[in-house]
Amino acid sequence: MSNFCVIKNSVLEYGNNTYYCKRRDRPRIQWYCRNRMKGCPAFIITYNNNIINIEDDHNHFLEQLSEYFIQLSSGRHLLCYGGHTFSSNSKNLEGSSTWYCSRRKSRSCRASIKVYGRNVYSYSGNHSH
Ligand SMILES: [Zn+2]
Ligand SMILES: [Zn+2]
Repeated sequence: MSNFCVIKNSVLEYGNNTYYCKRRDRPRIQWYCRNRMKGCPAFIITYNNNIINIEDDHNHFLEQLSEYFIQLSSGRHLLCYGGHTFSSNSKNLEGSSTWYCSRRKSRSCRASIKVYGRNVYSYSGNHSH
């Protein structure tokens, strides 16, 4: 676990995420993900500006995915990620869409990825194959 973080005023940056705290008048501070209002449970605890605990279970953008999208000659897109191929009914890549494993029918695979724009929002299910 890397303990690298940047703290500026009431904001802590760690990884690709930003955390904030309400009070900084004690050595032990609990920092909440800036998306807490959207239900993100992630938080970080610091003691004298050193990270002592990280729960980085974010429910939002996990990863930038632009490079994993492949445009087919038909104009549809495929999402190739983690050795699996996903497809979606959604024609444009703006807004949110859900991408299902291409083996959804043949192998009854339930894995899917929620995407917003070209960012991963969440994964759900495990591949059955
Ligand atoms: Zn978060
Ligand atoms: Zn699958």
